[in-house]
Parts: sequence; C-alpha cells; structure tokens
Amino acid sequence: MLENKDDQKTNISELGEFGLIKHLTKQFKINQKSTLRGIGDDAAVIEASNPVVITTDLLVEGVHFDLSYMPLKHLGYKAVIVNLSDVYAMNAVPSQITVSIAVSNRFPVEALEELYAGIATAAKIYSVDVVGGDTTSSTSGLLISITAIGQVKKEDVVYRDGAKEYDLLVVTGDLGGAYLGLQVLEREKQVFKVNPNSQPDLDAYTYLIERQLKPEARKDIIQLLVDLEVKPTSMIDISDGLSSEILHLCESSKVGCNLYEDKIPLDPQVISTCEEFNLDSTTIALSGGEDYELLFTVKQSDFPKVKANPHLTIIGHMTAENEGAHLITRANTKIPLIARGWNALQDE
Ligand code: ADP
Ligand code: MG
Repeated sequence: MLENKDDQKTNISELGEFGLIKHLTKQFKINQKSTLRGIGDDAAVIEASNPVVITTDLLVEGVHFDLSYMPLKHLGYKAVIVNLSDVYAMNAVPSQITVSIAVSNRFPVEALEELYAGIATAAKIYSVDVVGGDTTSSTSGLLISITAIGQVKKEDVVYRDGAKEYDLLVVTGDLGGAYLGLQVLEREKQVFKVNPNSQPDLDAYTYLIERQLKPEARKDIIQLLVDLEVKPTSMIDISDGLSSEILHLCESSKVGCNLYEDKIPLDPQVISTCEEFNLDSTTIALSGGEDYELLFTVKQSDFPKVKANPHLTIIGHMTAENEGAHLITRANTKIPLIARGWNALQDE
C-alpha cells in the first residue's frame, strides 16, 4: 500500500556508520537551556536543578508496528510521542530525547530520512532536543528505541500510588479511537492484498486513523492542571487500555474503583465504527489501548475545578481496596474490571 516506489535509493553502506549518523542527525539543533551538550560527544550533558524523569520504549517491527500501513515518518513521530506521554504522566515536562535504531540493509538511507523527519517534527512540536542515540545493524527488521528525559519540581511529581478512597477518577480526551484505527487499516491491508487496484474510501474513519498513525501526547493537560491549580493524587497514561490502567492505579494506590460505563468518553466515529464492525464500544474503550490520554485521580474538593472542562471527563471514583475495581454498567449492574490489553482483544 505504502511501498516506496522511488528508485533513487541510497544503500546505507555508501555512507558508512559515521556518515549515516552525521547525515541523519545534522538537522538537530539545541534549543533547551538544560542541554549543555547534545550529539557529537561520548555522552550528552544535561543540567538539572530539579528531579529528572527518565523513560524508555523499544519498538520492534512486526511486533509493535507494521510498515505496510505505517509510513516511516509517522513511525518516527509516534515513537517520540509514546515516550513523551510517559513523561507527562509523571506531571513532568520533557526536554531531551535519545534515539537508537537497529536497521537491516533492506532500508535505504531515504527510508531513514523519513523516519528522522517524523522524529524531528515531534521534537520540534514538543520542544525537546535530540541529544544522542546509537546506530547499529539488524539482521531482520527495524528496531527503534527512544529515551525521553524531563524535569519536574519535587513537590509536583505525580506517581501512580497516591490515589485515596473517594478521589474522583478523571480521563482526558476520548477512548478507543486508536484501536479502531488499527482495525480499519488491517481491513484495508487485506482488501489491498486481494485487489491492489482498490481505492480505499477512508473518509468515515479519518479521526480513528489519525489516532492510530499520528497520536499526540497530552502536553496541554500538564499546563491545564497548572492553570486549574489541580494536582492529581495519582496519574498514568493510557497505553494499554482503560481497564488495565485503572487496575494499575488501584494496585499501586491500594484502593478500589467504581467506573461508570455511561461516563466513558467516546468519539462519534468510535460509536459508528463499532456498530459497523459489530464491536461493543465499552469493550473497545476498556481494552483498546494506544490512546495516549491521561488518567488521573483528584480530591473530591477539586470537583468544581474539573467538572465543566471540555478536555476532562469524570468517569468514576475510588473506593476502599477491599471493594475491588468494578464497571457499573448502563443497566446498573456491577462487573469486575479485568485487564485485557489489546493483544487479548486480537485473539477474539
Ligand atoms: P560512540 O561510539 O561514542 O557510542 P557513536 O559514533 O555511536 O558514538 O555516536 C556519535 C554521536 O552520535 C553520539 O553523540 C551519539 O549519541 C549520536 N548518535 C549515534 N547514533 C544516533 C542516532 N541514531 N540518533 C541520534 N544520535 C545518534
Ligand atoms: Mg554509539
């Protein structure tokens, strides 16, 4: 579907390892005050006057992404986003990233340029410096590992373990879109295999596909919380699906939770596409994953500050640990929340 038909391809060996690194990284300029030294020395040097937050993700071709519908530029962008999302989930502000790649010689230099264009775009939009990385060869697919570094004042760090009984459970944005976007792309891939001349009509799924291919991290929410003068008692980002993230908060904080099905925020495209695919939208929101929204708890006394905000939805409240974690359905029945990531969903 998205194969590179360009025949102007440069073999990686023409540049050599050092030439390739230089070629890909010469675009990165230092913009952060805290970056004392970026690419080009044995290690980057970062100045910290606050606690430093560090997070890493490793993405493997065939496991985490499929290049038949994931353009390399989007892959580069998304690889940065998933890390920044983890930094924001600590209530921290990211300032630097490092990028490590392992590539087989089936990738021409031009493909890596695309990957790095996506990385550079994300770095620019989210104001982070690319300060280093590593480059090596791979016998099969593409591996990309990004590390993000951020800072946050000690008193502002938000961990997973601070939720208390009666706290309100709040989620940003809406859920389930990224998973459905993947389903739509998978379906188009199958159609394309059978009929390479088919022209997919994806108008009804634009939001879903964007959520899958070009997710954003909720940088805006960290600022919103400052503006609202709300400090969450606990926070996590939604990478695996709402239910498993709620269970992480409950387990770390030693509390239970009541989640209300009718409160779960869903985009109209999620609802219509669930109908079309004969899927239950609540199940998709609970287990879909890759939405990169933030899930957090706040004290009851913060209710007036969060209740009417269009970015925030109160979806439940925390209970005593021995009450467990439950979904309260529209029919007012109480069912235990279970962690089923999107992997489990795939097997259905
Ligand atoms: P070393 O041998 O000291 O590890 P390298 O030759 O691997 O150094 O890297 C040279 C410089 O380029 C270092 O600053 C390193 O962090 C950076 N670098 C290497 N590979 C990448 C990459 N894929 N993306 C960004 N920076 C990289
Ligand atoms: Mg190296």
